[in-house]
Amino acid sequence: WAKNDGRDRFALFDSDRHAVAVSRYRLSAEMPQALDDEQFFLEYQPLIRLDDQALAGVEALVRWRHPELGLLGPDKFIELAEHSGLIVRLGRWVLQEACRQAQQWRRTHPDWHPLISVNLSPRQVAEPSIVDDVVAILAETQLPPGSLQLELTESALMSAKGEPLSTLHRIAELGVRIALDDFGTGYSNLAYLSNLPIHALKLAGPFVAALHRPAGPDAIDIDILTMLVQLAHTLKLTVTAEEVETSDQAELLAGLHCDLAQGWHFSAACSASAVTDLLRSAHPLVRRPSR
Ligand code: C2E
Ligand code: MG
Ligand code: MG
Ligand code: MG
Repeated sequence: WAKNDGRDRFALFDSDRHAVAVSRYRLSAEMPQALDDEQFFLEYQPLIRLDDQALAGVEALVRWRHPELGLLGPDKFIELAEHSGLIVRLGRWVLQEACRQAQQWRRTHPDWHPLISVNLSPRQVAEPSIVDDVVAILAETQLPPGSLQLELTESALMSAKGEPLSTLHRIAELGVRIALDDFGTGYSNLAYLSNLPIHALKLAGPFVAALHRPAGPDAIDIDILTMLVQLAHTLKLTVTAEEVETSDQAELLAGLHCDLAQGWHFSAACSASAVTDLLRSAHPLVRRPSR
């Protein structure tokens, strides 16, 4: 019976894999039309300045409102879009929409100078035409380059050599900021950091979560985090903590002089109009920008 059991399990595993492959294939095939049909939309997660709790900006996060499957997060389709190459077109749309929205906020709230942070996939940076896209989108939306930040993950940045690296330099020369996303999840070649055209470092969730855990074998020492923030500041990098979920974490990070934070403690990603409401309200965790 042991053999039978094994076979059944194998059969189940195999049909699971088949179902997953079919749905991946389906999503991948549907994506171009979905983009034309405007099924993709952006949510925005507030970026909070820790020293005064002001709303410093937002990170744009893409979602897919699928007509049959419901709301799909980027973890369901970004990788597929990278594989098919559609990420180039999807990414251009994300950038355009995020810049348009940011400039609209600048018009309706002239006292607010938000940073709009947009995720880029390695595949986008591999296309040298990304530079022209950024230039065209900034011109068309009239967003000042310094208001735009492009986020690339550690592995994407560390593996950027040759052309992609010079593409990043050209983007940085436009005055656009570049952030190293999910810092601490990959291999962190600290020495290499100083060679990259980056302006900001985003501390990955596990770093922040470790702040909460009692000291243990895999606890990240608060001293290490202190040193990382100092190192970043020495390299003239702004530090943003991701996935801040508790007030304890927010206080600890403020104490470490971490510059910005985002996470459910402050606000989850939300619609553009919810951000606008936040600007009008006196939310206790998110103060209206001063000045
Ligand atoms: P990311 O850039 O690191 O974005 C932060 C993720 O953390 C978001 O997940 C956000 O919803 C989630 N998050 C925010 N606050 C908390 C918190 O307090 N706790 C926890 N546990 N999670 C929190 P989301 O929206 O599912 O996005 C996942 C990833 O997909 C992003 O990670 C980013 O790498 C990628 N992504 C999203 N939008 C785009 C895009 O337009 N283009 C590209 N290339 N990638 C994108
Ligand atoms: Mg998600
Ligand atoms: Mg990001
Ligand atoms: Mg991140």
